[in-house]
Amino acid sequence: MKISKRASSVSASLTLEISAKVKQLRAEGKSIIGFTAGEPDFNTPKHIIESAKNALDRGETKYAPVSGIMELKKAICEKFKKDNDLYFEPSQIIVSNGAKSSLYHAIYALVDEGDEVIIPAPFWFTYEEQVKMCGGKVVRVDTKAENGYKITPSELENAITDKTAVFLINSPSNPTGALYTESELIELSKVLEKHGVITISDEIYEKLIYDGNKHVSIASVSEYMRNNTVVINGVSKAYAMTGWRIGYLGAPKLLADAINRLQGQTTSNACTFAQFASVTALNEYTSDLEVMVKTYDERRKYMISRAQKLGVNYINPMGAFYLFMDISNFIGKSFNGKVINGSMDFASILTENGVAVIPGLPFYADNFVRLSYAISLEDIKEGFDRIELFLSKLS
Ligand code: PMP
Repeated sequence: MKISKRASSVSASLTLEISAKVKQLRAEGKSIIGFTAGEPDFNTPKHIIESAKNALDRGETKYAPVSGIMELKKAICEKFKKDNDLYFEPSQIIVSNGAKSSLYHAIYALVDEGDEVIIPAPFWFTYEEQVKMCGGKVVRVDTKAENGYKITPSELENAITDKTAVFLINSPSNPTGALYTESELIELSKVLEKHGVITISDEIYEKLIYDGNKHVSIASVSEYMRNNTVVINGVSKAYAMTGWRIGYLGAPKLLADAINRLQGQTTSNACTFAQFASVTALNEYTSDLEVMVKTYDERRKYMISRAQKLGVNYINPMGAFYLFMDISNFIGKSFNGKVINGSMDFASILTENGVAVIPGLPFYADNFVRLSYAISLEDIKEGFDRIELFLSKLS
């Protein structure tokens, strides 16, 4: 059978592959602490589940408008206004099957064959695969430790060419947890405006922020950005709703119309009763989110203290739920005669020693591994004990 060139060039999700390996090892009776989770370890809050049940009982089981039910689009407009100082009309909102789907449609609608998409690295590997699927080319900008792993205005300007279609920014970042300040975003926006570049801003981790830091949407920093940014968000991470598959975007009207047409020919509407539950998630305040953020923060602080005790460098995570740990001190060392040549080897040998982490290589950071703190504190403690023992055995 002939598989298309486009499909053949797409890589499988490494996170899913590693999760499968961990499952297999556990099924074989091995004890593995998995720092691999890309999703909250909390259950969806009860009132949201009740809302979905009520929607089902009311018979909300049919097709809905492609771009989403009006109740949800209005709730999203309110959310953008309240949290992000953004003023979208419901006609500029598209609800999709998760933020991943929103992102794909936005890239598809903006990128032609050969167009370039500038992305600061380390970045979430899905971005590159999606750009490739749309016939585009990623222009990777490797960010520097001294800049907090954030792109600077001059780095951005140097990456722009006459083929640049999109600048893609993710703050807070998966995998680094880096968070851009308002003044940094203003400086970047000046460069984007000067060159007429459109921005896609992935703000899915916006609610998971620590140390009193503040999330600012790049779309809100100037008139130009308000009219030339697609903001991607969703309920997955903030409300522990990864399985419900509800993401959304706010975009300039012309682009929202194009994405609406695309979605009408691909997935149609996102799950109707999950949309009703998402209205509840956005509109009905409870303390669940604060409790989750407080819990992540306790784990985050504990992991930082353990990383410091190990004497390893790490990127200080200001948001999301990942600690990106520097393993350069261990590259070139061996375990039982096996040499560690990079993050893939490190992760693979560490798994054999009872701890699974995500290697940095696919994020374009081969000196790092990513540890999620969306796992229990007991597991984190046990996991770090095992990491400590493992590192002490390297020669
Ligand atoms: N953006 C980033 C940076 C992510 O890490 C993820 C999930 N791993 C998503 C988007 C997709 O979220 P969703 O579950 O809404 O598709």
